[in-house]
Amino acid sequence: MISVAEAHKIIQGRIRSPEAETVKVNDATGRVLAHEIVATFPQPRFDNTAMDGFAVRARDTIGASADLPVTLSMKGVIPAGSSADTVIGKGECCQIMTGAPMPEGADAVVMVEDSSGFGDSSSVDISREVVEKENVRYSGEEIAEGETLIHPGNRLGAGEIGVAATFGYGELEVYRRPNIALFATGDELIEPGEELKPGQIYNSNLHVFAELSERVGTLITMQRVLKDSRESLKDFLSEAIEKSNLIVSSGGVSMGKHDYVRDVFLELGVKEYFWKVAQKPGRPLFFGESGGTLIFGLPGNPVSSFTCFMEYVWPTCERFMGLTPINKVTARLLESFPQETEKRRYLLGHVEMDGREMVAKPSGKYGSHMFTSALMANAILESPRGEGPLKSGQEITVRLLPWSELQ
Ligand code: AMP
Ligand code: MG
Repeated sequence: MISVAEAHKIIQGRIRSPEAETVKVNDATGRVLAHEIVATFPQPRFDNTAMDGFAVRARDTIGASADLPVTLSMKGVIPAGSSADTVIGKGECCQIMTGAPMPEGADAVVMVEDSSGFGDSSSVDISREVVEKENVRYSGEEIAEGETLIHPGNRLGAGEIGVAATFGYGELEVYRRPNIALFATGDELIEPGEELKPGQIYNSNLHVFAELSERVGTLITMQRVLKDSRESLKDFLSEAIEKSNLIVSSGGVSMGKHDYVRDVFLELGVKEYFWKVAQKPGRPLFFGESGGTLIFGLPGNPVSSFTCFMEYVWPTCERFMGLTPINKVTARLLESFPQETEKRRYLLGHVEMDGREMVAKPSGKYGSHMFTSALMANAILESPRGEGPLKSGQEITVRLLPWSELQ
């Protein structure tokens, strides 16, 4: 039996550097950036107007008011998307539309609302004084050319995609999503929706795995519930090893008479790195490798399965995709928390902010078969080996579930 820290070290040592691929900027949602996005030009790229109105020389508007407007002569119209060839001299102006480049000589824009309006006339009455630079967006005021905007390793959301598009990136280099094969084994398992016979239970773990795999960003290549038989396990695994970067299984990996998963892994030539980890729940945890495919055999009890997925598989998927897994944090216990002399102890739990402090409440359902404990959980709490229990008020280590909200 190895420690949780040793298990993590071994797994990390087997993860290869992430590979990149090119995708259209439209298809990059949720992907992880593999290169830097730099400002290919200053932003704004050229001086332009923030308002629909009149490009003027500010000093020509001095004293203008509704009662005493200033009349300027009209030099033309600059719509957005055109180049500004006009030159504005003393007493002159031109109509200008939001985003259009400022003409030479003009240094401010009067909003159309502060004028006699757009028209065909050869002059316009300006009814408000403007100061220099008013309503003008200057080149480079937001971003200088060459500035690094997004670093590799960032997941791309609306903000990042918008910024990439702003600077003309039609395609982005992103890290490949790992292919993942999922299976559950157990003669007692049937699919939700089917009718239960005596002794049967519904397969829930595989649905949890599929949800988590998709959420973290992997591509599911295979997903199947298998009988506790060497043949069906062998058939599935031979194909899964070919097709996948990762294989994750639930059940059949402990000491039961029909727990064939590890045997079959070994028969198929899977190299075993470990099979037991000093943790509760989740002691029978297999980790191995075959032809570059990493294989996790997770125990079948639903809380064990979920906890092991989040502790080991989720961060592995993140690393495969060029992400850096987030660190655990600490919170203050609102209740006591069990401790094991030889094992790390995990419980699902709920954390929240109490002022500036994070407080944590473990689920009262301690059994690794009690998956309804996941309903109140936004975190996995853990105590190190020790002579505990940890008392209410003591600090506890917390893995926030990445999709949950902290209130
Ligand atoms: P095992 O690891 O195969 O010994 O299974 C441990 C416990 O988890 C047993 O009570 C199983 O019935 C249950 N179990 C195994 N696989 C699943 C699954 N896919 N969904 C829900 N419970 C399961
Ligand atoms: Mg079983």
